[in-house]
Amino acid sequence: MTNKYSESYMLEAIHESHRSHCAKIQVGCIGVSENGMVVGRGANRSPSDIVPCTVKLCKAYFDANESCPVVHSEIDMLIGMGRTPRLYAVYITRYPCVKCALALSVAGCEILYYLTPNQKPWDIPSGFSMEMMLAELSKEKSDDQNTDV
Ligand SMILES: [Zn+2]
Ligand SMILES: [Zn+2]
Repeated sequence: MTNKYSESYMLEAIHESHRSHCAKIQVGCIGVSENGMVVGRGANRSPSDIVPCTVKLCKAYFDANESCPVVHSEIDMLIGMGRTPRLYAVYITRYPCVKCALALSVAGCEILYYLTPNQKPWDIPSGFSMEMMLAELSKEKSDDQNTDV
């Protein structure tokens, strides 16, 4: 891994999370190229024709078995990105779900940095390779990820 963790990208990811449309959990992410250029930004947001649950609370806000109609931040980022320059590292304010980790991997992401609940942006010592991340995620129950992120 050549791209070292940078606190400033995580702070930007936190900034992105403020664009979230979910009333319960706000997630933001930043995509960085190998030479350190920001190439993508995302937040968990609603598709345009759906009323955001920050405007009208969705069922998921009250019931853990329901899911919020937001697109995960990683997918929001990939939708907004072109093909170049290539994605290399992704900074996420929360651990990714298996589907998003796979999507990032397919999009070329090699390193993933995410915050665990008690971590601050300046706490992270190192990143996770996509390989490690996918292995780790596949060990967890497939329904482990909160569906409302
Ligand atoms: Zn919601
Ligand atoms: Zn996801």
